[in-house]
Amino acid sequence: MAAIPKATGGNGDAIGDGPDELTLLAERHLVQPWPVSGSIGAEARGRLEAGEGIYVTDAAGRRLIDGPAGMWCVNAGHRRQELADVMAAQAMELSYNSPWYTTNAPSAVLSKRLADHAPDGLDHVFYTTGGSSAVETALRFMQFANNVKGRPDKKLIVSRQGGYHGSTYLSASLNGRPRDHDWMDSAEGLVIKLTCPNPFRRPEGVGEAEFCDALVAEFRDVIEKVGAGRIGAFIAEPIMASGGVIVPPEGYLVRMRELCREHDILFIADEVVTAFGRLGHVFASQEVFGLDPDMITFAKGVTSGYFPLGGVMIAGRLFEELRRSNHSDAMFAHGLTYSSHPIGCAVALKNLDILEGGLLDHARDVSGHFQSSLKALEDLPLVGEVRGLGLMACVECVADRVSNNPLTLDLEVGKRIDTHCQELGLLVRPLINMCVMSPPLTISKSQIDDMATILRRGIELTTDDLV
Ligand code: PLP
Repeated sequence: MAAIPKATGGNGDAIGDGPDELTLLAERHLVQPWPVSGSIGAEARGRLEAGEGIYVTDAAGRRLIDGPAGMWCVNAGHRRQELADVMAAQAMELSYNSPWYTTNAPSAVLSKRLADHAPDGLDHVFYTTGGSSAVETALRFMQFANNVKGRPDKKLIVSRQGGYHGSTYLSASLNGRPRDHDWMDSAEGLVIKLTCPNPFRRPEGVGEAEFCDALVAEFRDVIEKVGAGRIGAFIAEPIMASGGVIVPPEGYLVRMRELCREHDILFIADEVVTAFGRLGHVFASQEVFGLDPDMITFAKGVTSGYFPLGGVMIAGRLFEELRRSNHSDAMFAHGLTYSSHPIGCAVALKNLDILEGGLLDHARDVSGHFQSSLKALEDLPLVGEVRGLGLMACVECVADRVSNNPLTLDLEVGKRIDTHCQELGLLVRPLINMCVMSPPLTISKSQIDDMATILRRGIELTTDDLV
């Protein structure tokens, strides 16, 4: 394998020679995404140096299980030779073409293969550079479609508390986590937020079915109050990922979809996390939830994180409606320099081969063991609930098991657990007082056991810290 070239400065001297200097360079010059408060523009973070399979190696040489698969994305695992090869081969064949007036083979073939996996009728694809731009594209398409159809007022977007849809202006405006808005502006006037469909936090004495009825009724009331003529889209992650792996009550998604259909509101399933095998299927909407959205946004696992690519599956019916309208000459003036990138699409094709060639089956096969191994952690006094589906799960810690009262945020229990787990060989994604686990889909049952054993110990050590 070719050695990774050493970075040099203008004078040819090596830059960042030695681990300490690299850490310092990042601290001084790198603006980290999601900086922790109090460290704006200058934050020391652990550095990873290598990855293989479900493992990563940090700068101190520690080998860690990649519990969150990067950010829910390294689905096929680290250091896949075939993904590296296809990127190199495509770069040597055609590294770029302008999507403004040309196309390329990988994007054409990928579109057909994705359409084959998507729910019936979702046979058009627009490629983006990631999840935020996919969500942005879906929303701009809704706005465009309603302008063309002569209903310019039908543009409001309904999202949910607890949801996460991205970091561009419009996609971030949909987010329902307080910290996403504390210091940031958003297009508030365009968005209506419904209650988070979290069964664990449903009102006391209310059953899950009744909770589901109330959530659907809330949406119906909003439509009645605001008027269907003003609401353009409803967007939902089938399972809220960053909000803490919230699996909605049974029937919730299908009932919300029915309301959308009744009122000509587009249903956008944000499958940036749930697609490409995380729930055992290329797309989870129909296969797992019986859902047939108008659009599906995807990213992350489409290339297993090897290349920044995202996209939106769009129902062909929507294009037909526009072609039949009085403004069939209207232009969807939206595009990115890297839309339909040939290297990204080539990697996605190879990644799809890996998924179809056994990885989806494997993910479905081990998911029961993954869920039950983590569920067993509910016997720990700090753990209020372990929930999840497929190969995504969340351990939520609570102040006490009787009331399930949340822990005070400043305890940052998730971070404490992560610190202990890293010492023991596991990376955890901490979310305030929760830990999210979504390992590479290649994980074996015995590696799941290792992961659960370390996590248990990390929680026990954290409990000791708190007393
Ligand atoms: N949608 C969902 C459900 C996500 O989880 C994320 C990112 O975590 C996004 C959209 C944004 O994707 P990206 O970070 O690739 O822009």
